[in-house]
Amino acid sequence: MNCPRIGAGWGDVQNLFTQLFRSEGYCLDSAEFDGVQIVVTLRGDRRFTPRCPCCEGAAAINREEFNTARDLPLGPVREVRVRCPALQLKCSECGTCSTLRPSLIDPCANATGWLMKAVSQACRRAPPAAAEALFGVGASTARHYDKAVLERTLPAPRLYGIRVLLVDEKSVRKGHGYVTLVLDGESGELLYMAEGKKKDSLGGFFDLLSSEQMESIEAVCIDRAGAYKACVEGNLPGAGIVYDKFHLVANLGDAVDEVRRSEWRAAQGEGKKVVKGSRYLLLTNRENLAPDRRRELRELLAVNENLSAAYVLKDAFKRLWDYVYPGAASNYLHRWCGMAKASGLAAFEKFAGSVLAAHDGIVAYCRHSFTTGLLESFNATVSRVITRSCGVRDLKYLFLKLRQESL
Ligand SMILES: [Zn+2]
Repeated sequence: MNCPRIGAGWGDVQNLFTQLFRSEGYCLDSAEFDGVQIVVTLRGDRRFTPRCPCCEGAAAINREEFNTARDLPLGPVREVRVRCPALQLKCSECGTCSTLRPSLIDPCANATGWLMKAVSQACRRAPPAAAEALFGVGASTARHYDKAVLERTLPAPRLYGIRVLLVDEKSVRKGHGYVTLVLDGESGELLYMAEGKKKDSLGGFFDLLSSEQMESIEAVCIDRAGAYKACVEGNLPGAGIVYDKFHLVANLGDAVDEVRRSEWRAAQGEGKKVVKGSRYLLLTNRENLAPDRRRELRELLAVNENLSAAYVLKDAFKRLWDYVYPGAASNYLHRWCGMAKASGLAAFEKFAGSVLAAHDGIVAYCRHSFTTGLLESFNATVSRVITRSCGVRDLKYLFLKLRQESL
């Protein structure tokens, strides 16, 4: 077969390849296309004197070892390989041995930096498996590239001047795989992630901070049911503890659902069916329901007294977040708990009891300026990243992916 070969006489094309594959100490030797793949070969540039990394003295090339790296597709040609030698150098002055490689190739991944960057960008928007169709790179190789690029390009966590921390646990595996996440409550930056949801999982974060960095933290927002309280109190005795709104709202939703289930058990015939399918109606914010579903909700609440009471209590609890003064918030919370206890709904009596026990941490919410939307949107991001990247087997990679999204 007659294979076209770019060499002397192919002036323009050769120039293009020379420009594209420019790398200090190397020059283009040839580019060949065999009908399936393009192989670009680089060689050591004789005009270039390699320098010793220790003393800057001239180094002699002892040995050349050829490697092949994968590159980005070029036009319709999906397979492009770059062949080039790693140059084993020996310094003629101090005798140090070193290796020179073209800067455009990542020696750990056997790929060009362009390819790795393009794959990493694709992995931000699509599952790693999509890299197969785009770049001819398998999913696990795509994850490997993406991780290497993120390790190199993401800045270190900013640990200075933090005023508010958000601490949360997230399930990352079916069953019981949890991680502890720590976010800057103002910027939303993910600062830390550790396996588990125990107090030690959070302790590792405080070990990273200097005493000055600890002192700037005014408040830490946690779930009241979690194990982090003792750890926060032990490490940051001066910081306020705030129970986070979203877990409370979720617990409140559970109480509504418990009422719904007990009403379903008590209902007969047609009524049973109406209550059964009402979970979504009861737990979704009214303003997010379609007009016909809103009418359904009104009808349900009109015929079922207990569900109606639960719904009114649920709505009333939300007003707590509007308070700016702790005293006023505290008064309102006590009033609400009084109503909940008087409702005769067991689930709400229980919820009110647990809320009163956590009174200080709940009221503290209005004292600190949380951008709580951050945590909510971050929760959505965590789920999306986990579903998309399936990167939960590698927690370091998961941390990098989440950090990328949080920045
Ligand atoms: Zn030297």
